[in-house]
Amino acid sequence: MTIAPAAELCSFIDASPTPFHVCRTVASELDAAGYRRLDERDAWPTQPGEFYVVRGGSLVAWSTSASDAPSDAFRVVGGHTDSPNLRLKQRHDLAPEGLGVVALEPYGGAWLHSWLDRDLGIAGRLSLRDGTDVLVHIEEAVLRVPQLAIHLSADRKGVEVDPQRHLNGLWSAASGTFLDLVTERAGVAQRDVVGFELMTHDTQSSALIGAASDLVSAPRLDNQVTCFAGLRALLAAEPTPGVRPVLALFDHEEVGSTSERGAQSDLLATALERIVLAAGGRRDDYHRAIAASVCASGDMAHATHPNHADRHEPLHHIAIGGGPVLKLHPNLRYATDAPGTAHFVRACEQAGVPLQRYEHRADLPCGSTIGPLSAARTGMLTVDVGAPQLAMHSARETMGTADVEPYALALSAFLSPA
Ligand code: ZN
Repeated sequence: MTIAPAAELCSFIDASPTPFHVCRTVASELDAAGYRRLDERDAWPTQPGEFYVVRGGSLVAWSTSASDAPSDAFRVVGGHTDSPNLRLKQRHDLAPEGLGVVALEPYGGAWLHSWLDRDLGIAGRLSLRDGTDVLVHIEEAVLRVPQLAIHLSADRKGVEVDPQRHLNGLWSAASGTFLDLVTERAGVAQRDVVGFELMTHDTQSSALIGAASDLVSAPRLDNQVTCFAGLRALLAAEPTPGVRPVLALFDHEEVGSTSERGAQSDLLATALERIVLAAGGRRDDYHRAIAASVCASGDMAHATHPNHADRHEPLHHIAIGGGPVLKLHPNLRYATDAPGTAHFVRACEQAGVPLQRYEHRADLPCGSTIGPLSAARTGMLTVDVGAPQLAMHSARETMGTADVEPYALALSAFLSPA
């Protein structure tokens, strides 16, 4: 087992507390690899090359070569940049019991109790009066949501966490407001800030744990593992005749993907159509390309929990360290069908990595992901895949160190089919 990819994943996650920072982290690696950032307001380049575009917390990157025909296929690795967390309300300065408290609210399906008693930083995006945006990342713990003492609970069995009343964060307000702190750290004047999206994150560094460093303990594994592995896959993809590799990372998956930059938006479809048109193709060539294309929608998968093995479908147990996961759901919470399955099976065989098959218990509600939504938007054959993890949507999640590299290798093989 090589642990270097998992250690790099930890650095990636720690640099990326919000979807905006995920895009910045990915963009800086793309820049270093020679990719050129495009502005959606500009014309797409007519010459082939390596390019990417950022729309808020979403990013699409692609590589084309001079030998590509306008109607050639795309191979897309998809993922999402957002993770459940606690976000700052617009008016948030509270002062109950003489304490400095800020009002927070959950984003997505945050597993609320896991956010209690953690040291939290704050990060996000500030929009300024002059029309520019500034990213801010306060890495040290400035917030904490303390839980109730066991002696004050009704039955000592658990704590009720009401999203309105029980998730406000303590911070030590020696003077000023919480936004004073944020704007000072961002190096901007508060009077210039006319909009903000600010969210908390776990300040404990991601780490390889266990006696043999065989586990990754980190926040936001769902779904920054796919952002990380997808980026690695794109950068490692071998030039393949007739195939144009694409990485598509979407914001807002945890709240349904319906936004200008979510998987239900036109972001991916327009980026691809503009590639075809800029290469001299017609709209019919775009439709021909889509008909030949395949998307691997990557998102994390539930490894079988050793303390709760009965929650898993008996013949679909997923092993930590067992390699990438194919995710299937007959009622289409996942997009995978038989032809899509075949594409990913071949990718894993090409990469020389094992493949596990996940199905959810029929008596438990299954989560979903971007796969079915982006498939409906683009009309592209789509297969939902992932890497195994425990404690999905906890503030702190766990996966196998050995699962990081095979996932990236499988995605890379998918982008450059033999
Ligand atoms: Zn996810």
